[in-house]
Amino acid sequence: MPFHHLPRRSLGFFPTPIVELPRLSQSLGGPRILIKRDDQTGLALGGNKTRKLEFLIADALHQNCDCVITAGAAQSNHCRQTAAAAAMVGLECHLVLGGTPPEQANGNLLLDEVLGATIHWTGADRKGEQLNAIASQLQAQDHHPYVIPYGGSNALGAVGFVAAMAELQQQLQAMEQSVDAIVFASSSGGTQAGLTVGQSLLAMDVELIGIRIDKAEDEQLSYGDQLAELATSTARMLQSDRQFHPTDFRVETAYLGAGYGVVGELERSAITRLAQSEGILLDPVYSGRAMGGLLDLIRRGQFNPQQTILFWHTGGQPALFAPQFSLKETSSFSG
Ligand SMILES: *Cc1c(COP(=O)(O)O)cnc(C)c1O
Repeated sequence: MPFHHLPRRSLGFFPTPIVELPRLSQSLGGPRILIKRDDQTGLALGGNKTRKLEFLIADALHQNCDCVITAGAAQSNHCRQTAAAAAMVGLECHLVLGGTPPEQANGNLLLDEVLGATIHWTGADRKGEQLNAIASQLQAQDHHPYVIPYGGSNALGAVGFVAAMAELQQQLQAMEQSVDAIVFASSSGGTQAGLTVGQSLLAMDVELIGIRIDKAEDEQLSYGDQLAELATSTARMLQSDRQFHPTDFRVETAYLGAGYGVVGELERSAITRLAQSEGILLDPVYSGRAMGGLLDLIRRGQFNPQQTILFWHTGGQPALFAPQFSLKETSSFSG
């Protein structure tokens, strides 16, 4: 495999399971739907960031750093998994979080505290705008911080999803199964860029469909440009000079609703539908929105009933317990 020369620290349970969603498929009149359970990676309630962190944490250890620092929203799943990974290998963890300290921590933030992370609140800066400044302060205090960017989405982090694509290819071969499309939540881009590089290097014939979760109004680069840059640098890290272009990525932007982390009918009905048809929990910010997007694509006839679609569950369920994402907007609780 093209990534075997890079140091990797085992942090979770892989391969994650793939199961079928027969009751959901049937209620939709097809297509066949499989789910890949990256919510079950096993690192402090799991999620897709575990895959990136296996490479990032190994690099932090390799560089003899004494702490890691990363950033995100108050309910960041990436920050919670980073705090757990740091604890696991005996590094301190600093988290740069958007917002102000709440009276009572809940969801992912509660777990950040339980996992022993030091939290730096940065008000309106939700995407790590102050990450490097705070890392410099730590350096001035004689720390050796390893800086992990927002979402863990640099080339080394994205390698985790190249490895994920190799894992999927092996599983599908063993199952004698092929899939026509893979649908997943796409936010900081490491997941989509890594999957795309993996697909290309492993010559897998499958369409990748990212469901966009948040869109910055002040984006300097379009998301397609960001993905192309990240994928090209990820390939380079794997000694491939393959160039990627914005047209290499399919990103659905129709499901942004009222913005990042605003739970609407799309998320609410997707979450209750999967819970009540298959007993599987999605999260309100990412996988709920991505499943809402998939259900809408199916409704609009984007797949034929003979096809097989794989939904990549990226985790995030601790946010179900954060009141700001309450699913109980309407009085009825049925999907
Ligand atoms: C971070 C995250 C994503 C998005 O992955 P990116 O690599 O940032 O695009 C999707 N789902 C969940 C639950 C996440 O925490």
